[in-house]
Amino acid sequence: MRFATQCVHAGQTPDPSTGAVMTPVYFTSTFAQRAPGDHDGYEYARVHNPTRTALEGNLAALEGAAHGVAFASGVAATDAVLKGLSAGDHVVATNDLYGGTYRLFTQVYERFGLTFTFADLTDPANLEAALQANTKLVWLETPTNPLLRILDIARLADIAHAAGADVAVDNTFATPMLQQPLALGADLVVHSATKYLGGHSDVILGAVLTSRDDWNERLRFQVKSTGAVPGPMDCFLVLRGTKTLHLRVERACANAEKIVAFLADHPKVGAVLYPGLPSHAGHDVAKRQMARYGAIVSFTLKDDRVETAHALMSRTNVFTLAESLGGVESLIEHPASMTHGSIPADVRRAAGLSDSLIRLSVGVEDVQDLIDDLSAALDTV
Ligand SMILES: *Cc1c(COP(=O)(O)O)cnc(C)c1O
Repeated sequence: MRFATQCVHAGQTPDPSTGAVMTPVYFTSTFAQRAPGDHDGYEYARVHNPTRTALEGNLAALEGAAHGVAFASGVAATDAVLKGLSAGDHVVATNDLYGGTYRLFTQVYERFGLTFTFADLTDPANLEAALQANTKLVWLETPTNPLLRILDIARLADIAHAAGADVAVDNTFATPMLQQPLALGADLVVHSATKYLGGHSDVILGAVLTSRDDWNERLRFQVKSTGAVPGPMDCFLVLRGTKTLHLRVERACANAEKIVAFLADHPKVGAVLYPGLPSHAGHDVAKRQMARYGAIVSFTLKDDRVETAHALMSRTNVFTLAESLGGVESLIEHPASMTHGSIPADVRRAAGLSDSLIRLSVGVEDVQDLIDDLSAALDTV
Protein backbone atom coordinates (compact mmCIF):
# COMPACT_ATOMS: atom_id res chain seq x y z
CA MET A 1 0.00 0.00 0.00
CA ARG A 2 1.16 3.53 -0.74
CA PHE A 3 1.24 6.25 1.90
CA ALA A 4 -2.22 7.80 1.34
CA THR A 5 -3.86 4.38 1.36
CA GLN A 6 -2.00 3.45 4.53
CA CYS A 7 -3.24 6.64 6.19
CA VAL A 8 -6.83 5.56 5.59
CA HIS A 9 -6.58 1.79 6.08
CA ALA A 10 -3.41 0.49 7.77
CA GLY A 11 -3.99 -1.39 11.01
CA GLN A 12 -7.74 -1.48 10.52
CA THR A 13 -10.18 -4.09 9.25
CA PRO A 14 -13.96 -4.11 9.66
CA ASP A 15 -14.80 -5.33 13.16
CA PRO A 16 -15.11 -9.15 12.99
CA SER A 17 -18.10 -9.37 15.33
CA THR A 18 -20.33 -6.73 13.67
CA GLY A 19 -18.68 -5.57 10.45
CA ALA A 20 -18.38 -2.02 11.84
CA VAL A 21 -16.22 -0.15 9.34
CA MET A 22 -14.75 2.19 11.97
CA THR A 23 -12.63 0.55 14.66
CA PRO A 24 -14.81 0.39 17.79
CA VAL A 25 -13.70 2.18 20.94
CA TYR A 26 -13.18 -0.74 23.32
CA PHE A 27 -14.12 0.69 26.69
CA THR A 28 -13.14 -2.30 28.78
CA SER A 29 -10.47 -2.96 31.36
CA THR A 30 -10.52 -6.75 31.10
CA PHE A 31 -11.35 -9.54 28.64
CA ALA A 32 -13.16 -12.86 29.20
CA GLN A 33 -11.07 -16.01 28.86
CA ARG A 34 -12.53 -19.36 27.73
CA ALA A 35 -10.29 -21.23 30.17
CA PRO A 36 -7.30 -19.88 32.11
CA GLY A 37 -4.81 -18.68 29.50
CA ASP A 38 -7.19 -19.48 26.61
CA HIS A 39 -7.97 -16.12 24.94
CA ASP A 40 -7.49 -14.13 21.73
CA GLY A 41 -4.44 -12.15 22.86
CA TYR A 42 -6.28 -9.72 25.11
CA GLU A 43 -6.25 -10.21 28.90
CA TYR A 44 -6.03 -6.85 30.62
CA ALA A 45 -6.24 -3.42 29.01
CA ARG A 46 -3.08 -1.92 30.49
CA VAL A 47 -1.18 -4.38 28.32
CA HIS A 48 -3.41 -4.47 25.21
CA ASN A 49 -6.59 -2.86 23.98
CA PRO A 50 -7.94 -3.55 20.46
CA THR A 51 -8.44 0.15 19.63
CA ARG A 52 -4.84 0.77 20.65
CA THR A 53 -3.65 -2.23 18.62
CA ALA A 54 -5.30 -0.77 15.49
CA LEU A 55 -3.62 2.59 16.10
CA GLU A 56 -0.23 0.98 16.71
CA GLY A 57 -0.53 -0.93 13.44
CA ASN A 58 -1.51 2.21 11.60
CA LEU A 59 1.36 4.33 12.93
CA ALA A 60 3.91 1.55 12.40
CA ALA A 61 2.84 1.25 8.76
CA LEU A 62 3.15 5.01 8.22
CA GLU A 63 6.75 4.99 9.49
CA GLY A 64 7.64 1.76 7.68
CA ALA A 65 8.19 0.06 11.05
CA ALA A 66 7.61 -3.52 12.12
CA HIS A 67 6.32 -2.45 15.55
CA GLY A 68 4.35 0.43 17.01
CA VAL A 69 3.85 1.14 20.69
CA ALA A 70 1.45 3.88 21.81
CA PHE A 71 1.79 5.90 25.00
CA ALA A 72 -0.30 8.38 26.94
CA SER A 73 1.67 11.36 25.55
CA GLY A 74 4.69 12.21 23.45
CA VAL A 75 6.63 12.79 26.65
CA ALA A 76 5.59 9.34 27.95
CA ALA A 77 6.86 7.84 24.67
CA THR A 78 10.22 9.60 25.14
CA ASP A 79 10.24 8.48 28.78
CA ALA A 80 9.70 4.84 27.76
CA VAL A 81 12.71 4.98 25.44
CA LEU A 82 14.89 6.42 28.21
CA LYS A 83 13.72 3.69 30.59
CA GLY A 84 15.12 1.21 28.11
CA LEU A 85 18.57 2.48 29.23
CA SER A 86 20.32 1.90 32.57
CA ALA A 87 22.09 4.05 35.14
CA GLY A 88 25.59 4.80 33.90
CA ASP A 89 24.56 5.04 30.25
CA HIS A 90 25.29 8.22 28.31
CA VAL A 91 23.03 9.95 25.79
CA VAL A 92 23.98 12.52 23.17
CA ALA A 93 21.14 14.85 22.18
CA THR A 94 20.82 17.73 19.79
CA ASN A 95 21.01 21.07 21.64
CA ASP A 96 17.96 22.59 19.91
CA LEU A 97 15.37 20.37 21.49
CA TYR A 98 11.70 20.25 22.43
CA GLY A 99 11.61 21.94 25.86
CA GLY A 100 9.82 19.03 27.56
CA THR A 101 12.42 16.57 26.29
CA TYR A 102 15.22 18.75 27.65
CA ARG A 103 13.42 18.97 31.01
CA LEU A 104 12.88 15.19 31.16
CA PHE A 105 16.52 14.48 30.39
CA THR A 106 18.09 17.01 32.74
CA GLN A 107 15.61 17.19 35.62
CA VAL A 108 14.45 13.57 35.81
CA TYR A 109 16.96 11.22 34.23
CA GLU A 110 20.14 12.90 35.42
CA ARG A 111 18.88 12.14 38.95
CA PHE A 112 18.63 8.47 38.00
CA GLY A 113 22.21 8.21 36.82
CA LEU A 114 21.97 8.77 33.07
CA THR A 115 24.33 11.41 31.69
CA PHE A 116 23.67 13.69 28.72
CA THR A 117 25.72 15.73 26.31
CA PHE A 118 23.85 18.36 24.30
CA ALA A 119 25.63 19.24 21.09
CA ASP A 120 24.96 21.18 17.90
CA LEU A 121 24.48 18.18 15.65
CA THR A 122 23.96 20.25 12.50
CA ASP A 123 27.70 19.58 12.27
CA PRO A 124 28.16 15.78 12.39
CA ALA A 125 31.73 16.28 13.66
CA ASN A 126 30.17 17.45 16.93
CA LEU A 127 28.59 14.02 17.36
CA GLU A 128 31.96 12.31 16.98
CA ALA A 129 33.36 14.63 19.65
CA ALA A 130 30.44 13.99 22.03
CA LEU A 131 30.39 10.19 21.86
CA GLN A 132 31.77 8.28 24.85
CA ALA A 133 32.50 4.61 25.48
CA ASN A 134 29.19 4.38 27.39
CA THR A 135 27.04 6.28 24.84
CA LYS A 136 23.99 4.09 24.24
CA LEU A 137 21.62 6.49 22.55
CA VAL A 138 21.73 9.47 20.21
CA TRP A 139 18.59 11.61 20.37
CA LEU A 140 17.75 13.64 17.26
CA GLU A 141 14.98 16.06 16.42
CA THR A 142 14.77 17.47 12.88
CA PRO A 143 13.58 19.98 11.86
CA THR A 144 14.43 21.30 15.31
CA ASN A 145 12.03 23.26 17.42
CA PRO A 146 11.73 26.23 17.04
CA LEU A 147 14.83 27.14 15.01
CA LEU A 148 14.05 24.65 12.24
CA ARG A 149 17.62 23.51 11.97
CA ILE A 150 18.15 20.38 9.94
CA LEU A 151 20.12 17.34 11.07
CA ASP A 152 21.47 14.84 8.56
CA ILE A 153 19.81 11.68 9.90
CA ALA A 154 21.65 9.20 7.65
CA ARG A 155 25.06 10.69 8.38
CA LEU A 156 24.50 10.92 12.14
CA ALA A 157 23.08 7.37 12.27
CA ASP A 158 26.23 6.04 10.58
CA ILE A 159 28.44 7.79 13.12
CA ALA A 160 26.32 6.63 16.08
CA HIS A 161 26.15 3.04 14.90
CA ALA A 162 29.91 2.91 14.34
CA ALA A 163 30.24 3.76 18.04
CA GLY A 164 27.64 1.17 19.09
CA ALA A 165 24.89 3.67 19.96
CA ASP A 166 21.25 3.48 18.85
CA VAL A 167 19.49 6.43 17.24
CA ALA A 168 16.08 7.84 18.11
CA VAL A 169 14.47 10.57 16.02
CA ASP A 170 11.61 12.73 17.25
CA ASN A 171 9.69 12.98 13.96
CA THR A 172 6.82 15.08 15.31
CA PHE A 173 7.53 18.15 13.17
CA ALA A 174 8.11 16.39 9.86
CA THR A 175 5.49 13.62 10.14
CA PRO A 176 6.06 10.32 8.30
CA MET A 177 4.61 11.93 5.20
CA LEU A 178 7.61 14.23 4.84
CA GLN A 179 10.41 12.23 6.45
CA GLN A 180 10.94 8.55 7.30
CA PRO A 181 13.83 8.23 9.77
CA LEU A 182 13.89 4.41 9.88
CA ALA A 183 14.61 4.31 6.15
CA LEU A 184 17.47 6.75 6.81
CA GLY A 185 19.03 4.44 9.40
CA ALA A 186 17.39 5.39 12.71
CA ASP A 187 16.45 2.64 15.18
CA LEU A 188 13.52 4.40 16.84
CA VAL A 189 11.03 7.05 15.78
CA VAL A 190 9.18 8.97 18.49
CA HIS A 191 6.02 10.98 17.91
CA SER A 192 3.92 13.38 19.80
CA ALA A 193 0.72 12.28 18.05
CA THR A 194 -0.85 15.24 19.83
CA LYS A 195 0.39 17.28 16.87
CA TYR A 196 0.04 16.34 13.17
CA LEU A 197 -0.96 12.69 13.58
CA GLY A 198 -3.99 13.56 15.69
CA GLY A 199 -4.19 16.83 13.78
CA HIS A 200 -7.20 18.44 15.46
CA SER A 201 -5.81 19.67 18.78
CA ASP A 202 -8.20 17.46 20.73
CA VAL A 203 -6.01 14.70 22.19
CA ILE A 204 -2.67 14.02 23.91
CA LEU A 205 -0.93 10.83 22.75
CA GLY A 206 2.53 9.54 21.85
CA ALA A 207 4.10 6.60 20.07
CA VAL A 208 7.40 4.86 19.40
CA LEU A 209 7.87 3.05 16.10
CA THR A 210 10.72 0.60 15.49
CA SER A 211 11.71 -2.39 13.42
CA ARG A 212 14.09 -3.60 16.12
CA ASP A 213 12.61 -6.62 17.91
CA ASP A 214 14.76 -6.03 21.01
CA TRP A 215 13.54 -2.44 21.34
CA ASN A 216 9.96 -3.55 20.78
CA GLU A 217 10.34 -5.98 23.69
CA ARG A 218 11.83 -3.28 25.90
CA LEU A 219 8.99 -0.91 25.06
CA ARG A 220 6.28 -3.54 25.57
CA PHE A 221 7.86 -4.31 28.93
CA GLN A 222 7.56 -0.59 29.80
CA VAL A 223 3.90 -0.55 28.76
CA LYS A 224 3.15 -3.44 31.11
CA SER A 225 5.47 -2.38 33.94
CA THR A 226 5.11 1.40 34.08
CA GLY A 227 1.69 1.72 32.47
CA ALA A 228 1.68 5.12 30.71
CA VAL A 229 -0.96 3.90 28.25
CA PRO A 230 -3.43 5.97 26.21
CA GLY A 231 -7.16 5.39 26.68
CA PRO A 232 -9.19 3.82 23.88
CA MET A 233 -11.01 7.06 23.03
CA ASP A 234 -7.70 8.85 22.58
CA CYS A 235 -6.49 6.05 20.30
CA PHE A 236 -9.67 6.36 18.26
CA LEU A 237 -9.18 10.12 17.85
CA VAL A 238 -5.65 9.67 16.53
CA LEU A 239 -6.79 6.87 14.21
CA ARG A 240 -9.40 9.24 12.84
CA GLY A 241 -6.73 11.91 12.52
CA THR A 242 -4.29 9.85 10.49
CA LYS A 243 -7.00 9.09 7.91
CA THR A 244 -6.50 12.65 6.62
CA LEU A 245 -2.82 13.13 7.51
CA HIS A 246 -1.71 13.23 3.87
CA LEU A 247 -4.39 15.79 2.93
CA ARG A 248 -3.79 18.04 5.92
CA VAL A 249 0.00 18.03 5.66
CA GLU A 250 -0.10 18.72 1.94
CA ARG A 251 -2.37 21.74 2.39
CA ALA A 252 -0.50 23.04 5.44
CA CYS A 253 2.83 22.85 3.57
CA ALA A 254 1.38 24.71 0.59
CA ASN A 255 0.04 27.43 2.92
CA ALA A 256 3.37 27.64 4.78
CA GLU A 257 5.30 28.11 1.52
CA LYS A 258 3.10 31.08 0.58
CA ILE A 259 3.38 32.61 4.06
CA VAL A 260 7.17 32.28 3.92
CA ALA A 261 7.19 34.18 0.62
CA PHE A 262 5.01 36.90 2.18
CA LEU A 263 7.18 37.23 5.31
CA ALA A 264 10.46 37.19 3.38
CA ASP A 265 9.32 40.30 1.46
CA HIS A 266 7.89 42.18 4.43
CA PRO A 267 9.82 45.30 5.48
CA LYS A 268 9.26 44.73 9.23
CA VAL A 269 10.38 41.10 9.23
CA GLY A 270 13.99 40.23 10.11
CA ALA A 271 15.01 36.63 9.50
CA VAL A 272 12.62 33.96 8.21
CA LEU A 273 13.59 30.44 9.30
CA TYR A 274 12.24 27.77 6.95
CA PRO A 275 14.18 24.81 5.57
CA GLY A 276 12.55 25.28 2.17
CA LEU A 277 14.41 28.57 1.65
CA PRO A 278 17.55 28.03 -0.47
CA SER A 279 19.33 30.43 1.92
CA HIS A 280 18.58 28.14 4.92
CA ALA A 281 21.77 26.45 6.21
CA GLY A 282 20.11 23.03 6.20
CA HIS A 283 18.36 23.36 2.85
CA ASP A 284 20.46 20.81 0.94
CA VAL A 285 20.09 18.13 3.61
CA ALA A 286 16.38 18.88 3.96
CA LYS A 287 15.97 18.55 0.21
CA ARG A 288 17.57 15.12 0.38
CA GLN A 289 15.76 13.69 3.40
CA MET A 290 12.35 15.42 3.34
CA ALA A 291 9.57 15.27 0.77
CA ARG A 292 8.54 18.86 1.58
CA TYR A 293 9.66 21.36 4.19
CA GLY A 294 6.81 21.28 6.67
CA ALA A 295 4.34 23.81 8.00
CA ILE A 296 6.23 25.34 10.90
CA VAL A 297 7.69 28.76 10.18
CA SER A 298 9.74 30.88 12.58
CA PHE A 299 10.69 34.51 12.10
CA THR A 300 12.10 37.52 13.90
CA LEU A 301 11.18 41.18 13.63
CA LYS A 302 13.59 43.94 12.66
CA ASP A 303 12.41 45.64 15.86
CA ASP A 304 13.98 42.92 17.95
CA ARG A 305 12.25 43.56 21.30
CA VAL A 306 10.22 40.99 23.23
CA GLU A 307 7.42 43.57 23.71
CA THR A 308 7.06 44.03 19.95
CA ALA A 309 6.82 40.28 19.40
CA HIS A 310 4.24 40.07 22.21
CA ALA A 311 2.24 42.92 20.69
CA LEU A 312 2.16 41.28 17.27
CA MET A 313 1.02 37.97 18.71
CA SER A 314 -1.85 39.44 20.64
CA ARG A 315 -3.17 41.21 17.50
CA THR A 316 -3.78 38.29 15.15
CA ASN A 317 -7.35 37.03 14.75
CA VAL A 318 -7.14 33.94 12.56
CA PHE A 319 -3.86 32.78 14.11
CA THR A 320 -4.61 31.80 17.71
CA LEU A 321 -2.00 32.58 20.35
CA ALA A 322 -1.34 29.16 21.87
CA GLU A 323 1.30 26.52 22.49
CA SER A 324 1.33 23.35 20.42
CA LEU A 325 1.28 22.83 16.66
CA GLY A 326 0.15 20.49 13.93
CA GLY A 327 -3.60 21.05 14.09
CA VAL A 328 -5.93 22.15 11.32
CA GLU A 329 -6.01 25.64 12.85
CA SER A 330 -3.11 28.07 12.60
CA LEU A 331 -1.32 28.98 15.82
CA ILE A 332 1.22 31.64 16.75
CA GLU A 333 3.49 31.52 19.78
CA HIS A 334 6.54 32.97 21.51
CA PRO A 335 9.00 30.13 22.28
CA ALA A 336 11.13 32.04 24.79
CA SER A 337 8.20 32.75 27.10
CA MET A 338 5.96 29.76 26.25
CA THR A 339 7.10 26.37 24.88
CA HIS A 340 10.77 26.87 25.71
CA GLY A 341 10.34 28.77 28.97
CA SER A 342 11.68 25.79 30.96
CA ILE A 343 15.08 26.03 29.24
CA PRO A 344 17.32 28.44 31.19
CA ALA A 345 17.71 31.78 29.36
CA ASP A 346 21.49 31.45 28.98
CA VAL A 347 21.20 27.91 27.56
CA ARG A 348 18.42 29.10 25.24
CA ARG A 349 20.41 32.05 23.92
CA ALA A 350 23.58 29.98 23.55
CA ALA A 351 21.59 27.65 21.29
CA GLY A 352 20.63 30.65 19.13
CA LEU A 353 17.01 31.05 20.27
CA SER A 354 16.55 34.82 20.44
CA ASP A 355 14.01 36.36 22.79
CA SER A 356 12.02 37.91 19.93
CA LEU A 357 11.57 34.76 17.84
CA ILE A 358 7.98 34.02 16.76
CA ARG A 359 6.82 30.56 15.70
CA LEU A 360 3.86 29.82 13.44
CA SER A 361 2.13 26.49 13.06
CA VAL A 362 0.41 26.97 9.74
CA GLY A 363 -2.95 25.24 9.44
CA VAL A 364 -5.25 24.37 6.56
CA GLU A 365 -7.36 27.54 6.37
CA ASP A 366 -7.53 29.69 3.21
CA VAL A 367 -4.01 31.04 2.91
CA GLN A 368 -5.18 34.53 1.91
CA ASP A 369 -6.98 34.90 5.25
CA LEU A 370 -3.78 33.86 7.04
CA ILE A 371 -1.65 36.34 5.08
CA ASP A 372 -4.19 39.15 5.59
CA ASP A 373 -4.20 38.40 9.33
CA LEU A 374 -0.39 38.57 9.63
CA SER A 375 -0.27 41.63 7.41
CA ALA A 376 -2.79 43.53 9.54
CA ALA A 377 -0.99 42.59 12.78
CA LEU A 378 2.40 43.60 11.34
CA ASP A 379 0.93 46.99 10.32
CA THR A 380 0.19 47.76 13.99
CA VAL A 381 3.69 47.19 15.37
C1 LIG B 1 4.73 18.30 21.76
C2 LIG B 1 6.02 17.67 21.50
C3 LIG B 1 6.50 16.63 22.31
C4 LIG B 1 5.76 16.16 23.55
O1 LIG B 1 4.56 15.56 23.25
P1 LIG B 1 3.25 15.58 24.22
O2 LIG B 1 2.28 14.80 23.41
O3 LIG B 1 2.88 17.00 24.43
O4 LIG B 1 3.66 14.90 25.48
C5 LIG B 1 7.70 16.05 21.97
N1 LIG B 1 8.41 16.47 20.90
C6 LIG B 1 7.99 17.46 20.11
C7 LIG B 1 8.82 17.89 18.94
C8 LIG B 1 6.79 18.09 20.37
O5 LIG B 1 6.38 19.10 19.58
